[in-house]
Amino acid sequence: MTNIERNYKEIRERIVTAARRADRDPDCVRLVVVTKGQPLQAVEHVVAAGACCLGENYVEEALPKIQALAGNEIEWRMIGHVQSRKAREIVENFSGCDALDSLRLAIRLDRFAAQAGRRLPVLLECNVSGETSKFGFAAWDRNNWPGLATELAQVVELPNLQVRGLMTMPPVFDDPQRARPYFQCLRELQKYLGERLPQVNWSELSMGMSGDFEIAIQEGATLVRIGTAIMGPRN
Ligand SMILES: *Cc1c(COP(=O)(O)O)cnc(C)c1O
Repeated sequence: MTNIERNYKEIRERIVTAARRADRDPDCVRLVVVTKGQPLQAVEHVVAAGACCLGENYVEEALPKIQALAGNEIEWRMIGHVQSRKAREIVENFSGCDALDSLRLAIRLDRFAAQAGRRLPVLLECNVSGETSKFGFAAWDRNNWPGLATELAQVVELPNLQVRGLMTMPPVFDDPQRARPYFQCLRELQKYLGERLPQVNWSELSMGMSGDFEIAIQEGATLVRIGTAIMGPRN
């Protein structure tokens, strides 16, 4: 067994344990293995270990991997910021976009999805920390949530997108407990949007990475995005 296969199995077990401890069904927490910055061979190892849901951040880097692994049933998720001019490539090559962060991008994805004859699953990335380095809809100030709901109402109306929930990246901390309030905030925002925009099924919460996924699972994550803890350091 390679290190990657071993890490993959160990992380799967930690996800199950964290879910049970939180009184949650482990099947309701899905693992997205983040393969950005990893060579094809490493990606092949994790697929051999059983990974079927992979996350990439950059279109150019992802396309050769997607082509090389085309024979496998892999769900490729775009988890990084997407420039609007890349919208077509997202629609044509990815299962969905987990980092939808502007109305402008939403409109373009919707247009290309219409052309491709598909309805693209998306998660709305929300910035709950206020860090200027982060992408995402501005969600750190609760006084602005009514305005945010008005903006998102335009996104959820787009007929060729299927909004499934929210995604966030908290600040990086040495102590993962400090990420907890940001996960809680995303969950509260999910509830708020569920009341304001009940026509949408907001069930997905993509939150938690290598250093803090167990906390995120306690706080309701349905998708965790894990890179280095499985794949090792990136190039
Ligand atoms: C790189 C990345 C991850 C994975 O981070 P690790 O700390 O390596 O687990 C998760 N989510 C996003 C959006 C990323 O860009």
